Amino acid sequence: MSDPLGASLVSAVGDRTAAALGKTLGLHTVGDLLRHYPRRYAERGQMTELGRLTVDEHVTVLARVKSASSRPMRGRRGTILSVVVTDGRDDLSLTFFNQAWRQRELVEGRTGLFSGKVGSFNRSLQLANPDYVLFDGGDDDADVLDQFAALIPVYPASAQMPSWKLAQSVRVVLDTLGALDDPLPEQVRDEHSFLGLAEALRLVHLPRTKADVAAAHERLRWEEAFVLQALLAQRRLAARELTATPRTPSPDGLLAAFDAALPFTLTPGQRVVGEEVAADLAQTWPMNRLLQGEVGSGKTVVALRAMLTVVDSGGQAALLAPTEVLAQQHARSIRAMLGPLAEGGLLGGSDRGTRVALLTGSMGAAARRQALLDAASGDAGIVVGTHALLQESVSFFDLGLVVVDEQHRFGVEQRDALRAKGSAPPHVLVMTATPIPRTVAMTVFGDLEVSSLSELPKGRSPIATHVVPAGEKPHFLDRAWVRLREEVAAGRQAYVVCPRIGEGPEEAPSGDEPASDDARRPPIALLEIAPLLTDGPLAGLRVEVLHGRMHPDDKDAVMSRFAAGEVDVLLATTVIEVGVDVPNATGMVVMDADRFGVSQLHQLRGRVGRGGHAGLCLLVTDAPPGTPARERLDAVASTLDGFELSRLDLEARREGDVLGASQSGRRTSLRLLSVLRDEDVILSAREEAARAVADDPTLAGDPALAQAIAQLVDAERADYLEKA
Ligand code: ADP
Ligand code: MG
Repeated sequence: MSDPLGASLVSAVGDRTAAALGKTLGLHTVGDLLRHYPRRYAERGQMTELGRLTVDEHVTVLARVKSASSRPMRGRRGTILSVVVTDGRDDLSLTFFNQAWRQRELVEGRTGLFSGKVGSFNRSLQLANPDYVLFDGGDDDADVLDQFAALIPVYPASAQMPSWKLAQSVRVVLDTLGALDDPLPEQVRDEHSFLGLAEALRLVHLPRTKADVAAAHERLRWEEAFVLQALLAQRRLAARELTATPRTPSPDGLLAAFDAALPFTLTPGQRVVGEEVAADLAQTWPMNRLLQGEVGSGKTVVALRAMLTVVDSGGQAALLAPTEVLAQQHARSIRAMLGPLAEGGLLGGSDRGTRVALLTGSMGAAARRQALLDAASGDAGIVVGTHALLQESVSFFDLGLVVVDEQHRFGVEQRDALRAKGSAPPHVLVMTATPIPRTVAMTVFGDLEVSSLSELPKGRSPIATHVVPAGEKPHFLDRAWVRLREEVAAGRQAYVVCPRIGEGPEEAPSGDEPASDDARRPPIALLEIAPLLTDGPLAGLRVEVLHGRMHPDDKDAVMSRFAAGEVDVLLATTVIEVGVDVPNATGMVVMDADRFGVSQLHQLRGRVGRGGHAGLCLLVTDAPPGTPARERLDAVASTLDGFELSRLDLEARREGDVLGASQSGRRTSLRLLSVLRDEDVILSAREEAARAVADDPTLAGDPALAQAIAQLVDAERADYLEKA
């Protein structure tokens, strides 16, 4: 198959331009260039809104010259030419050094495109030594603009490669472009009345009308969704080719004993998801399922029942947790839930029982040896651990199920490393408490089946959330401490959460914090306010500190004392963010709450109100009302719906970040598709893609699609290698 899109740019646009395109924008092939779509389109005669520019942005604006004047530079030889351009309302200054001759062409009333990096000088925005082209020129490249119809493409550009130069290259390439093989099957194109690929590429770069742009975008966007979904459909199909050991519970086994002893009834959601999981486990290919559910929705119980099913059938289950605190807590709570069932082989234990081993990176040698032995011999039916489980020295007797808690902290590679420890591929269940919108799940975890727990168990108390505006109303903060003391006086416990540990090597930022640009004061540090609180508003209470730099044994000891009610207030960092479960804790004060992401706050707040008593979460901030930071906090305070908050959180980020750092390969392949806005497109493309792949799993009959998929895989792989 001839592949015009794979051809090098050199022969199309010449050495020099090809080198510039490659170096500054990473565009090497004809396909790279044609897939570099315009960011927007300037309309002839319609000025760019200059009031909306932001500093440091590389911009291309359509504007009219308002004035031009030159003067000698102060204290040096040479001249400064100052030109003011306008959109009719706002102005932008252009400054040229030693280019006074430009005053002859930059005369009042002329319009053109001006391109450069926005700087700020004397409180107003300016472009220094910008590139430009003018309409109706007569000069060198003056007719550049006149070649375009009413819409002038504006590209993501660079200083070396201004938008209109790029447009010229595109034009050259399009002029000689022949027919293209289309990754969209003909029947799909017909059904949706989509443009063909070549036509779509032509119109996205050189539209005559806005309708052209819309038609091109529609098709290209759909194509992005389709190619990705076809890849994921192939992966799902490939997964079915693997053989796994089917696991079913025995009628009088561990699961039955556990269910009989369960102190509560399962929620309808837990029952439904439990059945989905059980059906997966009984299959001859590996389960690959994502279980998402609100904080406290009872995912752990569902996972534990799956683990017991596997143990019943003679296999083992591994539970992978993102932090030591969480691994320890999981081990503790699983042992507690199992009671005598977790004492298999021990005196007084149930003879149906098994054992729960814990393996973390920081365990002592003896404990570690015992845990390794229990895993390898199969004596431990359940092995809980952190990343330490992934090490080569860890082996299992018969690993049948891997449960991954809090997926977003583990990469796909880590999932795979654990998966490789079974003799046959184990079943995999991934749990996440950060609910993600369905289309994001389909895009990011498209090779996983998704189950959701949407309701909380009965008897769960509501959590009231309030924003405490410590900036405007300092006495509100005093009031917050009083409320916390009231909780303690009523026999409850509380958390105070800080964004930073303080003292000593600074931890990496928690990662979820929205990018901050300014030089704000550093966030409040745990170790700095601890003495102020214990000597001040929390004096007389039993207060302890918990953070990520403590020795794991100390962390575990503090958590145990807090769980046992021997500590009133836990001062902590986000180590308590995921999964920590102390039902008697009802109060939470989050310091500098605006430094946390929306989903993270929602996670944190899930730590209170887990028992029969109402929870109270106070978000302390000095972010002024009306700022985005404050609005995010107001949103958190206004709803307990995790799906809604997660959507909000994602919308606040740039689209690319929605897919997460581990997904940047996928991110670059999604140029027009928005995983948040284009739900319809993703759903319909997914359906068509599944059909296409089911009809022809290797896509032998559809080489253009196969090639598009191969390129997508390459992009992901290149990205992975870059990071490694
Ligand atoms: P998640 O892992 O989804 O945050 P957990 O599984 O840790 O939630 O459950 C939170 C708490 O609710 C635990 O104390 C658990 O024992 C309890 N729980 C789970 N399911 C139920 C249920 N159906 N009814 C009552 N309590 C439940
Ligand atoms: Mg949990």
